[in-house]
Amino acid sequence: MAGSGPLHTGSSSAGALPIGVLALQGDFREHLAVLGGLGADARSVRTPEQLASVRGLVIPGGESTVMDKLTRAFDLAEPLRDAITAGLPVYGTCAGLIMIADRIIDGGRDQQTLGGFDVTVRRNAFGSQTDSFETDLDVPELGDVPVHAAFIRAPVIEQAGPDVTTLASLDDGRVVAARQGNLLGTSFHPEMTGEHRFHELFLRMVAAA
Ligand code: GLN
Repeated sequence: MAGSGPLHTGSSSAGALPIGVLALQGDFREHLAVLGGLGADARSVRTPEQLASVRGLVIPGGESTVMDKLTRAFDLAEPLRDAITAGLPVYGTCAGLIMIADRIIDGGRDQQTLGGFDVTVRRNAFGSQTDSFETDLDVPELGDVPVHAAFIRAPVIEQAGPDVTTLASLDDGRVVAARQGNLLGTSFHPEMTGEHRFHELFLRMVAAA
């Protein structure tokens, strides 16, 4: 794929980068399909052993309160925190963004996050009137063609620390995509609209890590 960087160390799939998708809940199948289509060795992650075998991890959209409970029940929360602290590249979409955020507004009762991403996210930021919509976003980092983005009961990034770079905002200024070192987060779901450039960016981050 032109311009997408070195995703392979060899021509066989044995040389493809092993990329995990946290597969406890949510739309992990869509992410596995996109990553596989881009040439990654995409794998479901449900155990600490599986987590240890990957070079990058996608946390999908779904329901962050449920994902929080399941990561704790599956003894994955601490290994995930340790991996993020050790620098594992992680891409969180929607609920996945909430999972990696350091702070949440309107979280569920006793909801915890894995943290690492120095942002405050507001859950369900668009309320019940507009809980789902699609729009085109300018994302200069990904080129001139706008990103067609699907927002589904989506969070927004309300505050971000100094090391966080904004990648995309809505017309009203609310931040919906950002990066901090090896962490990437989007409020929306590129995996649902045929948009692969965020996953390509993530694979370049993994290759460079
Ligand atoms: N509202 C969900 C949450 O709080 C996120 C929705 C989504 O991932 N599409 O986790």
